[in-house]
Amino acid sequence: MSTFKAPKGTYDLLPPDSGRFLAVREAIAAPLRDAGYGYIETPGFEDVRLFARGVGESTDIVSKEMYVFTTKGGDELALRPEGTAAVLRAVLESNLHKTGNLPVKVWYSGSQYRYERPQKGRYRHFSQVGAEAIGAEDPLLDAELIILADQAYRSLGLTRHRILLNSLGDATCRPVYRAALQDFLRALDLDEETRRRVEINPLRVLDDKRPEVRDQLTGAPLLADYLCDACKAYHEEVRALLDGAGVRYEDDPKLVRGLDYYTRTTFEFVHDGLGSQSAVGGGGRYDGLSEMLGGPELPSVGWALGVDRTVLALEAEGVVLDLPPVTSVYAIPLGEAARRALFEKVTELRRAGIATDLSFGGRGLKGAMKSANRSGARLALIAGERDLVDGSVQLKDLESGEQHAVPLAQAVAEIQRLLG
Ligand code: ATP
Ligand code: MG
Repeated sequence: MSTFKAPKGTYDLLPPDSGRFLAVREAIAAPLRDAGYGYIETPGFEDVRLFARGVGESTDIVSKEMYVFTTKGGDELALRPEGTAAVLRAVLESNLHKTGNLPVKVWYSGSQYRYERPQKGRYRHFSQVGAEAIGAEDPLLDAELIILADQAYRSLGLTRHRILLNSLGDATCRPVYRAALQDFLRALDLDEETRRRVEINPLRVLDDKRPEVRDQLTGAPLLADYLCDACKAYHEEVRALLDGAGVRYEDDPKLVRGLDYYTRTTFEFVHDGLGSQSAVGGGGRYDGLSEMLGGPELPSVGWALGVDRTVLALEAEGVVLDLPPVTSVYAIPLGEAARRALFEKVTELRRAGIATDLSFGGRGLKGAMKSANRSGARLALIAGERDLVDGSVQLKDLESGEQHAVPLAQAVAEIQRLLG
């Protein structure tokens, strides 16, 4: 062991388990690509003010969880805690929204950093795949994104995820509701910090997970009762579209999100096998964010799914992903001359697109066979001095144990035939 450890709240992805991470990322990305979302990648850090403005000063993310640092040049930067603000910054900066092709549909994948209290499913470095549809106000888009996330979870074999759905209203109806909620909350027995939150961002008090707060929220006014006609119609349309797609969801009138910029459609994906870190993903509409960043009016909708928690959800459901074996052929050279001859074959096989590994370091047959079996390969390609004198190699089927000799020159063709 070295004297160093991974920083608190982080962990390493190691093979072979890391294969599941890649598979989850890919499973989330595949439906997006097929639905016209293009890949976008932004830097791992941004001007701290982008997040302060775009996520909201009063959010936990900005007020408590950000990794902020000053560069040698004097810039105040923050490691990104989430993806949306940066994606919108990039779209505005590159004028992607001016191509006349709205909405701009993009997806991203990458690390996020939040200074949180680490626990299972809650890390300081974690991974998200996210999608954003920027520049169109259309319930079809809200529905499309929810359906694509559901499709991703299903393609992984998850069945115990649930979709919670709500509407947060818009600039017309939310202020009325906000005032009513504040009146209600001001009368409660709350601690100092929560009282402050009531004044700055009362909706987020509804998101409080503490039982002593939750108990008092029972009679709180609900946004659903305050939605203006336009918001109500929009929300009904999203619900009808999900119904039409056969995607089940639960109306959750208390669902709010930790980020300030959400309007109208808000949703969360939860998984019941994860204990208190039950959210595997979340998102919603953020019609006002572009203007908050100094851009034009660009109503948008998006989500971010947590890769780490999705992997935990797979574990909780006991889903074993059907990952293709990393190695198809494992070469075992016995002796100096065989090393060279087989290394050539290995290179040839790899160039032919066949996943091939070999035994390094001049190991004996027994140890090398163990590695071959552990690699998951279907075939072992074995050659000793005597085989080479005959101009042949041994091909061993690692499942049946059957072995036969083939001419060295035909080894690649024979392997291709056997692997189909
Ligand atoms: P939570 O309520 O659990 O703190 P959140 O509302 O902060 O979640 P979002 O900002 O919406 O989460 O991020 C979307 C997804 O990213 C979450 O549903 C979760 O799967 C994942 N995620 C967020 N924070 C963490 C974290 N600290 N560690 C691991 N995954 C995380
Ligand atoms: Mg959080």
